[in-house]
Amino acid sequence: MPEKVIIIGSGPAGWTAAIYAARAALEPLVFEGAITEENRLAGTLPLGQLALTTEVENFPGFPAGDLGTYLETAISEDRRAFMPPHHHAGVTGPELMELMRQQALNFGTRVITEDILDVDLSGRPFRLTASDGSTHEALAVIVATGARANYLGLASEERFKNRGVSACAVCDGALPRFRNKPLAVVGGGDSAVEEAVYLTRFASVVYLVHRRDQLRASRIMAQRAQENPKITILWSRVVDEVLGSDAAGVTGVRLRSTKNEPDLELAISGFFAAIGHTPNTALLRGKVDLDEKGYLKLTTPLRTYTSVEGVFAAGDVADPYYRQAITAAGSGCMAALDAERWLNEKGL
Ligand code: FAD
Ligand code: NAP
Repeated sequence: MPEKVIIIGSGPAGWTAAIYAARAALEPLVFEGAITEENRLAGTLPLGQLALTTEVENFPGFPAGDLGTYLETAISEDRRAFMPPHHHAGVTGPELMELMRQQALNFGTRVITEDILDVDLSGRPFRLTASDGSTHEALAVIVATGARANYLGLASEERFKNRGVSACAVCDGALPRFRNKPLAVVGGGDSAVEEAVYLTRFASVVYLVHRRDQLRASRIMAQRAQENPKITILWSRVVDEVLGSDAAGVTGVRLRSTKNEPDLELAISGFFAAIGHTPNTALLRGKVDLDEKGYLKLTTPLRTYTSVEGVFAAGDVADPYYRQAITAAGSGCMAALDAERWLNEKGL
């Protein structure tokens, strides 16, 4: 018997879709992604992008306050053991994601900790192949695979990945090699500011390198960067090369000016890329319509329909514009409702 609905992805979109699908008696099966070194390096481990961050201040329903007891009782003991201790006001990304996952489980969602590597959408039921080699059939599919961090694409950046080059301050910032050392973050969006502010916990100074003379980050975030005494913003600068050696890893960075200023060489021991994200749609290329940046194209306003009937999309994978946890969660709800109504209409 095919599954009624398979959900691919484990961020806010995937878990919200699961909660709604489970409550609609669709018995959803979620592929949450595999725990592999490749996924760790790409920032696509289960629980999605919010698992890579610290406090989440803008998800409604989680004002600053002590959620300690609530977390203790809501999340099972075996998974709590892997969560950082709760000793702050408000909710962190990993906590929020564990809560969403648990809520989906509470309504009977089944979860497989594997990647979906291939999909055959040419006939019904759809056929999905997982990273453990198993195949699964589904009447409807909700794609909620999110997005992954971009790098600049420099050879020198590639050379020093894991030896001073990172795209995740929260994952790597506390490493000894970054302690009390100058670090650089490249980018001008919310992620870059967040990474820079986070790294000030460890670094002696954080250079925020931006290619323009204005941050893209939201006003409240931009203000935080500008007011932080440990952050120096280097405006109108692009990274020409990450400097270093095999023995020491990253030791510096060479920056070019876009305003005819002389090149600048900074001594740093860590280089963090925070220059945006690419949607995780490689497995859908040629099978579902994508836009020029690889985002899944939605075909109908205010619906989560894709170019393939029975395949629905939710979250960052189909959203080059808002890319927020709450919008991802909202569209996960929409995708589950769309799938339920579509299955009903088809009598499936
Ligand atoms: P994602 O969170 O990207 O999760 C998708 C996950 O699905 C992947 O990580 C992977 O585990 C899994 N997956 C992918 N491919 C497959 C596959 N083939 N098979 C199985 N599983 C797969 N937004 C806010 O609103 N507030 C914030 O404070 C905030 N902070 C952020 C901080 C950082 C550092 C970053 C990077 C983003 C932040 N965002 C924030 C944005 C927010 O995290 C995203 O908008 C949101 O996580 C998108 O959710 P999603 O469900 O679409 O996908
Ligand atoms: P983003 O908003 O797309 O910003 C990317 C930044 O990187 C931009 O400043 C861009 O420069 C720069 N950039 C892109 N390519 C570059 C290159 N090749 N070289 C140098 N610089 C480059 O991406 P993001 O910051 O990852 O944010 C993604 C989404 O997540 C946003 O919607 C954001 O609001 C959300 N988010 C929210 C929070 C929060 O609310 N606390 C935290 C993190 C992320 P230009 O400005 O010149 O284009």
